Amino acid sequence: MTVTVQAIPMLADNYSWLLRESTSGKVGIVDPAEAAPAIAVLEAAGLGLDVIFLTHHHPDHVGGAEELRARYGARIVGNRADAHRLPRLDVPVHEGALVEFGVANARVIEVPGHTLGHIAYYFADGELLFPGDTMFSMGCGRLFEGTAAQMFSSFAKFAELPDETLLCCGHEYTAANAKFALSIEPDNTALQTRFDEVATLRADGLATLPVSLGTERATNPFIRAATAEEFGERRKAKDTF
Ligand code: ZN
Ligand code: FE
Repeated sequence: MTVTVQAIPMLADNYSWLLRESTSGKVGIVDPAEAAPAIAVLEAAGLGLDVIFLTHHHPDHVGGAEELRARYGARIVGNRADAHRLPRLDVPVHEGALVEFGVANARVIEVPGHTLGHIAYYFADGELLFPGDTMFSMGCGRLFEGTAAQMFSSFAKFAELPDETLLCCGHEYTAANAKFALSIEPDNTALQTRFDEVATLRADGLATLPVSLGTERATNPFIRAATAEEFGERRKAKDTF
């Protein structure tokens, strides 16, 4: 395993993710909402920045990208279909594309729903998944542009990934999601355990992410929805929860 990850908190509740590939020394970042917190971490570690991976066009995911490219000469990766509303892309990608990252690579998975051009990145090396605002711990992103059926299909694309996969989401929404999840499945013991774990982590001011896909499969009411209809009902219920 040569790719490792570190959360960088940004804005109110965003996470940007710093990636390091140890063989080549390559450094990447996923969804830099801001430049300053990333620069602080990079400078403290004496690192440059090679690649900026963008999941979708919202300002709280791309806000720091241009400044980081200008400062470090990093290359910006994003969905070519959304090029018109993303920072200028050095590496336009699409479903199934493999983005080189040192000796490792990231596979692009198109996951429409939160936005239509939303993509996720999967690093088989390190078993890391960056779903942006598609999947959160015990939750899913709001449907700003896509339909519940689209988001359900997008979730299904993660089904083949191993339980050990670490989910590196775009936001610290876990505590609120846990409350909603328990309202859906009050008798789910895995969920009760995770609820308590999350409460403890947050009380200590700690991140609840990354979380394994295996844990999510046992606790996330949106992964656990059997049909697109059920998924849609749950998403609607969460909107007003
Ligand atoms: Zn978003
Ligand atoms: Fe966001």
